[in-house]
Amino acid sequence: TALRTSHRALFRAYATASQPHALVLLEHRGGALESGSLSALTAAGQLGGKVTGLIIGDKDQVTPLVEQAKKLQGITSVIQSSSPHYATPVTEKLSPLLLSLLKDSPPFTHVVSAHTSSARSLLPRVAALLDVPAVSDITSLEHDASGSTTFTRPIYAGNAIATVKAPASIALKFFTVRPTAFPAAASTNSGDVEVKEVAAVEEAEAATEHISTNLTKSDRPELGTASRVVSGGRALKDAATFEKTLYPLADLLGAAVGASRAAVDAGYADNSLQVGQTGKVVAPELYIALGISGAIQHLAGMKDSKLIVAVNKDADAPIFQVADVGLVGDLFEVVPQLVEKLK
Ligand code: FAD
Repeated sequence: TALRTSHRALFRAYATASQPHALVLLEHRGGALESGSLSALTAAGQLGGKVTGLIIGDKDQVTPLVEQAKKLQGITSVIQSSSPHYATPVTEKLSPLLLSLLKDSPPFTHVVSAHTSSARSLLPRVAALLDVPAVSDITSLEHDASGSTTFTRPIYAGNAIATVKAPASIALKFFTVRPTAFPAAASTNSGDVEVKEVAAVEEAEAATEHISTNLTKSDRPELGTASRVVSGGRALKDAATFEKTLYPLADLLGAAVGASRAAVDAGYADNSLQVGQTGKVVAPELYIALGISGAIQHLAGMKDSKLIVAVNKDADAPIFQVADVGLVGDLFEVVPQLVEKLK
């Protein structure tokens, strides 16, 4: 309670901050910054003020990433904090650091991250401790001179867009960004940005321990960031048919493989390949939907793709309502023909 009270008192001081200053959580994996964080950085830049990137991790992880971050377009400074304690992003371990940064550092006006599973745990937690709201999964933003920020965010599986305003009276605004709605920040900066190191904040007792991470390994392009995606649905019959039918086409196109939930639930494809409301949200240049009916929950994950191609033997399948190119036909005839042509 004492901690919360002291933080709340600080927010009254923040209310005088005029120029926006965003603190952007730069998540990373395998020695590289996550592309979603690069999109979050672009979104933060649209606030029109300063942008500080925050990199947290083990010392070995953080040092090379700081160099990567310094080159990112729009970044004005970097804060790094390293400790073995932060080797894996456990919310309960990261939140004391974030809380302390918001107390000790220059007066940030916004705390930003990609809408990832880690960040959508961390940001609302810290926002709640500070008694301020958090806006999630935003697809656009506008910050005005009075200090209020207006966001749009999809609701009802993307069937409606809500406009949400965080008024100037909320001095510190938290939001997570839908990566597909903003381009990734390019590495075109001169690298001449201030870097500050802050000490880790380790609380004596964290309620959660990281035990292990099990990653799905694949040589194929990553579904969330691929520029082309070939997805299969229930029509693919079984795992072997799914693989035999889709993979040659995906390989020829250099595409990632996706799946509907029906295909995942039936065991044709791994969970990590699911596209949709409860799967991944993708917006590639090309999305090919094979034997997918186009339920709203699936559309929620792919309808912002630039070119949608659908093959379905039912001319009334709802997928054709969002498809740019539709072919009514049997995918087991169409796909091998397409593969031959592409070869
Ligand atoms: P079906 O709807 O069974 O469609 C199969 C299609 O294949 C049909 O249109 C048929 O005409 C066509 N077809 C069959 N044979 C052939 C052939 N030989 N050649 C060409 N076409 C053929 N779904 C998701 O995908 N992602 C999600 O994230 C998701 N989240 C959900 C969350 C909730 C809360 C709920 C309730 C549902 C969710 N669903 C999700 C499920 C969704 O409602 C649908 O059930 C699912 O998307 C259907 O998958 P499908 O299109 O592969 O299967």
